[in-house]
Amino acid sequence: ASSKLPNEKDSIFTIMGHLARKYNATDLSQGFPNFKTDAQLTHLVSEAMARGYNQYAPMAGVIELREEISKKINHLYHKKYDPETEITVTVGATQAIYSAITAFVQKDDEVIVFKPAYDSYEPTIKLNGGYPVLVQLEGDNFKVNWEEVENKISRRTRMVIINSPHNPTGTLFTREDMLKLEHLLKDTNIILLSDEVYEHLIFDGQEHQSAALYPSLGERAVICASFGKTFHNTGWKTGYCVAPKALMAEIRKVHQFAVFCVNHPVQQAFAAYLKSPDHYLELGRFYEKKRDFFLELIKNSKFKGSPAAGTYFQLLNFSEITDESAVDFSQRLVKDFKLASIPVSVFNIDQKDNKQLRFCFAKTDETLEKAAMILNKF
Ligand code: PMP
Ligand code: GLN
Repeated sequence: ASSKLPNEKDSIFTIMGHLARKYNATDLSQGFPNFKTDAQLTHLVSEAMARGYNQYAPMAGVIELREEISKKINHLYHKKYDPETEITVTVGATQAIYSAITAFVQKDDEVIVFKPAYDSYEPTIKLNGGYPVLVQLEGDNFKVNWEEVENKISRRTRMVIINSPHNPTGTLFTREDMLKLEHLLKDTNIILLSDEVYEHLIFDGQEHQSAALYPSLGERAVICASFGKTFHNTGWKTGYCVAPKALMAEIRKVHQFAVFCVNHPVQQAFAAYLKSPDHYLELGRFYEKKRDFFLELIKNSKFKGSPAAGTYFQLLNFSEITDESAVDFSQRLVKDFKLASIPVSVFNIDQKDNKQLRFCFAKTDETLEKAAMILNKF
């Protein structure tokens, strides 16, 4: 039978998670916290269930939740999104990304994707008959070559996808990057998909460069976010996207028929919980401490990396240890040393020579200590 995605296999997250369980390994591969979400939040979910919020939610999301999202964005990025028409609650950021790409990308359209990239963008573009146009991030700091982007933008370019803080590298777009992007997209009809799921996970006093902060980007931007990343409950698969009214109307057409609506009691709980900004404003400091704890434990090992600027991922270079490919070494690490990680090369254009592994530090100190003990053996 013909396949619409002939080259897709199980994702690296599925493969590594499986190996981690099979070898009973310490798992720093797939990005999720191994500590509990706030008990207040689980209480709010069960309370919402007990109060009877067990049927379909409104198609675009619980209005009180959309109002809280609107307030938050206005507070942090000084842009007003109308809760009625410009905000939609989705099944995680993944469904927001899927719905936005599906709403706008038509056959033979091109979409600029920076590599390495989160793995859902390209298959979704292809499912819609579009072409990912790949731009490799360059150097140890994974900087954008904006000249290359300019050269790759064509009459067919429908969308540019950005992701800051960036998975898997932990790097950030700077203000200069955003201004370059603004300049390139000015006077075009290109839509910007800005994946901001790690917006609160930013370290060392740096600031998140939301597309919402830049007026000429905001007017063409679909911004995606994930409660799973922010509130330590990736398994609840709840997130949202915001966009100007005309764009959101198109996204909702897809959303309506992909899922119709999202888990109702969870939305009720987030609506109540988001009333206190402390819950997300403390997050950067929390994860910065985790990052520092982990790096301090391995500072004398042969694994080298500059501290992640954002996200909960730390890249470590292993070229002092072996010439193996990142895929081979990550397999050996999980099978023989019982530590699971993600080889960055699988997200690259150039598969072969990248010698970095991604370690998720959204883990208890105990788990990070276990992982460090293994890394210190090399
Ligand atoms: N974008 C990026 C960059 C991510 O890392 C993730 C989570 N792995 C997602 C989107 C998807 O988020 P969610 O789990 O809310 O669907
Ligand atoms: N965002 C997670 C990560 O990068 C993976 C989520 C998934 O498995 N799709 O590890």
